[in-house]
Amino acid sequence: MTDVKRERLKTFMRGAGEVLKRCGAACVDALYPEEITCDVCLAELKTRGRYRVCAKCLDELPYVGDKICLNCGTPLSDESDYCNRCQNNESSFKLCRAPFEYRDLAMKMIYDLKFGGKKYVAETLAAFMTDTFLKEGMNADIVCFVPMTDKEVKKRGFNQAELLAIQIADRLNMPLLPALIKRKDTSEQKALNARDRAKNLEGAYECVLSQVKKRNILLVDDIFTTGATSNECAKALLKAGAREVSVLTAAVTKQKMSFEQDDRLVSNDKK
Ligand SMILES: [Zn+2]
Ligand SMILES: [Zn+2]
Repeated sequence: MTDVKRERLKTFMRGAGEVLKRCGAACVDALYPEEITCDVCLAELKTRGRYRVCAKCLDELPYVGDKICLNCGTPLSDESDYCNRCQNNESSFKLCRAPFEYRDLAMKMIYDLKFGGKKYVAETLAAFMTDTFLKEGMNADIVCFVPMTDKEVKKRGFNQAELLAIQIADRLNMPLLPALIKRKDTSEQKALNARDRAKNLEGAYECVLSQVKKRNILLVDDIFTTGATSNECAKALLKAGAREVSVLTAAVTKQKMSFEQDDRLVSNDKK
């Protein structure tokens, strides 16, 4: 066999191998279709819907209603336009919105994502978050996420805010930029009240990418509690020249009544 013929045969075999590989994969898929289960309760789903959540869970999820703080999206118990925090403080972000209240099934989904080894839940949460972004008429040019320190990422193996941001950027067809870094370990954060949380986070975040300049940023995180994290990140982005920062989280904690003001009662293990 001449060298030319041998080369041609090799090329043909390589091509045939690819075709066979693809056929093989298709056959396996047809014989053993991927089982789809509800991300919340693991019930088997008959069809692949928009959210990978069964009808029962879809019905029971704690959606944020209409009575929310116009600035930070916190669900309110009365008819006020703004929550206590936003009435008394200015935010560095333009607005914040979330599809869910941080309780019940939404709390379970976020717990499964962060601590239950179910990273795929990010896909479903991001689908709801993207809907909220569109429904609320939010706008942005670039997607960023709340960072964790290297030590924190190493401990968990991933950053859930980043997982959500990857999915959201993909769905909105927007560039994702890891513009923020976290300089300070704030793991003691959960034991602090709102004022001390804000103080503890001061200077914790820094924007290290100049591409945010004059851009509208969508900042993604998992939970919005006191707003201290979002506020500090927005501050860092604005300092680097961003035009404005909107925040999108999977869930938001409801405004507490005055008798519940102790922040330590919030069961949010914030990073
Ligand atoms: Zn379900
Ligand atoms: Zn507010």
